[in-house]
Amino acid sequence: MKKNKNQNYTCVHAGELKDPIYGGATAPIYTSTTYDYRGPGTNLYPRYFNTPNQVALAQKMAALEHTESALIFGSGMAAISAVFMAFLKTGDHIILQRAIYGGTSHFADAEFDRVGITYTMVEHVTAESLQDHLQENTKMIYIETPSNPLLELVDIEMVSAFAKANSLTTAIDNTFASPINQNPADFGIDLILHSATKYLGGHSDICAGTVSGSQKHMELLWKTAKNYGGSLSDVTVHLLERSIKTLGLRVKQQSKTALKLAKFLERHPDLEKVNYPGLKSHPQHKIAKKQMSAYGGMMSFELKSTVDHNEFLEQLKVVKPALSLAGVESTILSPVQTSHSLLTPEQRAEQGITDQLLRFSVGIEELNILIDDIEQALEKSRIRN
Ligand SMILES: *Cc1c(COP(=O)(O)O)cnc(C)c1O
Repeated sequence: MKKNKNQNYTCVHAGELKDPIYGGATAPIYTSTTYDYRGPGTNLYPRYFNTPNQVALAQKMAALEHTESALIFGSGMAAISAVFMAFLKTGDHIILQRAIYGGTSHFADAEFDRVGITYTMVEHVTAESLQDHLQENTKMIYIETPSNPLLELVDIEMVSAFAKANSLTTAIDNTFASPINQNPADFGIDLILHSATKYLGGHSDICAGTVSGSQKHMELLWKTAKNYGGSLSDVTVHLLERSIKTLGLRVKQQSKTALKLAKFLERHPDLEKVNYPGLKSHPQHKIAKKQMSAYGGMMSFELKSTVDHNEFLEQLKVVKPALSLAGVESTILSPVQTSHSLLTPEQRAEQGITDQLLRFSVGIEELNILIDDIEQALEKSRIRN
């Protein structure tokens, strides 16, 4: 497993914007949308991604993802769509992993056709499946690992090597792992994307996105991104910067609790199956060990058919049923009732998503609190004949 040093220091101090007048401990917030054109701020404008707070936070994200540069966006989808539109053009082809975020696959369905970009969704991303779907006009590979909701992994190093051999640009949605547990740039991935709405924000009160990459890639992205206009307001940039200061503390705690909880749930008689990359039973545990420094706060599990899953959700007192994830509070959802509700039962069965499957986002609450809540809810939702 890779060691990642001084992450808390990076979270707190990288890209620190000093208060030059009063020497305050936190960064001043510069909310101006216009600056004296005769002064040092001539070209500063929020939509150009170049105001002081945006630039400082971008430096923190670059440091966290081990890249030269970064840009901060108004949402995860603003970041993802800007990457597609900047690096693809009419006539190009892109290979996407099937199990990507719903909004991303919807973007491909709704937008690529209209601009003449073709795409292939690959079920299991391996060197063989990539080779099978590679075309003359393929320009990019886009992956997401661990995936939602089954926590499947893709071998990042393999994807990077394949892309380099075929001169393709690579992009990864690194939201689930967070920069604390996985740094795809170390394996040669070009563009590292985050929905900062999740772990980076971490308190379920910010919508934002980030992209990290080399100076060269980020300059290209910037040229398109400023036309689409998806920058983040400086006030929210400040909130996000404040949140990231505790990213390392939060994610390390969430990962520790999640590993213990996954081990507990795996042995539980009311559960059929637990999907968590940190478990030895996870089919890609070896890949997890190679590319992650801890296994993260996301997991999913299947209840046995002897438990009523609706009643289970109903009975939870601490863990909140909620759509989003990665906050300091634990949340849970049924993919069948939410993210995957538009698929047919056959499509869901094909992807391994059952009615009894629940996705769990581990918060910072103590392990015993979570276990007690789960136990009491199971107790009340067993089906008695
Ligand atoms: C939430 C999410 C997104 C989309 O981000 P928004 O901030 O909602 O636009 C993208 N990828 C993953 C993995 C997500 O969980």
